[in-house]
Amino acid sequence: MDAVLRAEDVRREYGETVALDGVSLSVAAGEVFALVGPNGAGKTTLVRALTGTTAVDGAVSLFDSSPDAVENARLGVLPQSFSPPARLSARELLDYYAGLYDDPRDIESVLDDVGMTDSADTRYEDLSGGQQRRTCVGATLVNDPDLLVLDEPTTGIDPAGRRALWRLLEGLAAGGTTILLTTHYMAEAERLADRVGLLADGQLAAVGSPTDLVAEYGGRSRLEIETDADTTSLDGLDHTIDPHPTGIVVGDVSATEIGTVVDALERNAIDYGELAWRQPDLEDVYLTVTDESRSRDGIDGDRSLAETGRTTEVAQ
Ligand code: ADP
Repeated sequence: MDAVLRAEDVRREYGETVALDGVSLSVAAGEVFALVGPNGAGKTTLVRALTGTTAVDGAVSLFDSSPDAVENARLGVLPQSFSPPARLSARELLDYYAGLYDDPRDIESVLDDVGMTDSADTRYEDLSGGQQRRTCVGATLVNDPDLLVLDEPTTGIDPAGRRALWRLLEGLAAGGTTILLTTHYMAEAERLADRVGLLADGQLAAVGSPTDLVAEYGGRSRLEIETDADTTSLDGLDHTIDPHPTGIVVGDVSATEIGTVVDALERNAIDYGELAWRQPDLEDVYLTVTDESRSRDGIDGDRSLAETGRTTEVAQ
């Protein structure tokens, strides 16, 4: 597939601060690419570089042109902070943005897409934070863009609104729209993205599909057991056993092995409270990769297992 967006060895410094330290990236037509990374990693600078709103060293192209040369109608950009005129209603705002294009979409269908039909006549300043953000996403859709670039589209939106927006973005992607987004929500990246790029200290530290990244960096499933008991008698189990803030963590336990561990607890009369089976997910990848890059830079990157992973309660 053709690349809609290309960046090659992109660098940007602000005085002493290196915001982007040689980023190369290519996003294919119809692909959803999520950029994740800690605050200050360079995500917004990269988004601005890719959309031509900040000058960088290196090469950037959109649709094989320089970002400045791309027809506005092909592009929808949601900056991280976007403050439209506060006294306009959502409908008036979308109408205003639609007026900038020769062949805009029907505003009512855009309002419907972003779940704003019922509040369409409320002034922007009187909308909730989530409704404001959804209206802003709507403003990026009025021109039916081929490429959507969204910097933290769902920040401030409640979980139901976030899921509704995910469905909308999935629908757009299924229709062929290329989407580049940044997010702090790993569940969002995991659900939406064909590929995820992990930015740390201005560099892409890892790029791949969520599944591949979890396989490479996520670690193994594990069982956390809340207990005060002496668990040395469990040593016969063919698993690693490490201390954990509320008890122990048994390493590398697949779903079918949970029973074996529970049997061993019962057999050894070990009193235990909650059992939590944790499967690695993108959050583990994020913490592992950003820890590695922090350690590489000489920053202490210790973290406890308690901070990582998705927890699935399995017993008691
Ligand atoms: P992120 O979006 O991942 O939080 P940013 O791209 O905003 O990261 O910032 C990357 C680095 O560049 C940070 O250290 C930030 O302080 C710095 N930076 C970003 N914009 C500016 C600016 N306009 N002036 C000075 N430093 C900046």
